[in-house]
Amino acid sequence: MQENNQPVVNLISKPENMLKTVYTACRTCYSADYPINIYSSTDDKEKMLKLIERVISSGHYSTIEHIQVSFAISNVSRACTHQLVRHRHMSFSQKSQRYVKEKGQFDYIIPPTIEKNQELKEKFITFMGKISEQYQEFVDAGIPAEDARFVLPNAAASSMVASLNLREMIHLANLRLCTRAQYEIRTLVKKMCEELLKEEPWLRPYLVPKCERLGFCDEDKSCGRKPTKELIGIK
Ligand SMILES: Cc1cc2nc3c(=O)[nH]c(=O)nc-3n(C[C@H](O)[C@H](O)[C@H](O)COP(=O)(O)OP(=O)(O)OC[C@H]3O[C@@H](n4cnc5c(N)ncnc54)[C@H](O)[C@@H]3O)c2cc1C
Repeated sequence: MQENNQPVVNLISKPENMLKTVYTACRTCYSADYPINIYSSTDDKEKMLKLIERVISSGHYSTIEHIQVSFAISNVSRACTHQLVRHRHMSFSQKSQRYVKEKGQFDYIIPPTIEKNQELKEKFITFMGKISEQYQEFVDAGIPAEDARFVLPNAAASSMVASLNLREMIHLANLRLCTRAQYEIRTLVKKMCEELLKEEPWLRPYLVPKCERLGFCDEDKSCGRKPTKELIGIK
């Protein structure tokens, strides 16, 4: 288990010329010039950002699908990865519980609510130990890992490489940075955004909870960060 019990996230791949590529895609829609000329002749960052914001705000999202980014993710629970893989425009390669046999105590994630309660934390750890023993007994008896894994819990730690285009990245951030999202996937997606923002700070206005883009909250139970849609008269 990682000491900090937190997702570990690294951006491992992204195009070098992200802003210029998105700008070229946007500009091509409204220009008689060849895309390659637009690409080669533009370096004005302000001009590029202005057009990109206009195009994205008008819902012309295909222009941001040209950008693909990949993350190396580890130390997340199966409960968390199960939520992430619901995003259908993402690509995943996840550590297999069929091919990778657990040896000794499997890694697991302790939720903070249990972590901070010493008595419950000890019970949690003891229980993980019992599961591990049972898993090991099955494996030692010749049960294939793909069947022994049936006893492994949602807490079992996992690793994956996850890739997505910029449109899906923004969608993912809008949904999963919302305070209504579960804490672990929220932490994971926050780290993915931070990693990308280190390299591409111009994306900051987009990698936000959906209420920041909408200007209101469309959730049933609002956290109060923004007025609800009912409050501002949207049905
Ligand atoms: C706070 C929260 C609570 C949740 N609770 C539950 C829950 O209780 N139970 C549960 O099952 N899930 C739950 N989910 C998961 C949720 O229902 C979605 O499956 C998940 O968020 C992926 O979102 P998406 O479908 O918008 O995104 P993606 O799969 O990433 O797709 C992006 C967008 O592409 C379009 N799209 C993709 N596929 C199709 C398609 N087949 N047809 C038409 N358009 C498509 C849609 O516009 C979609 O918004 C929850 C999610 C959140 C954020």
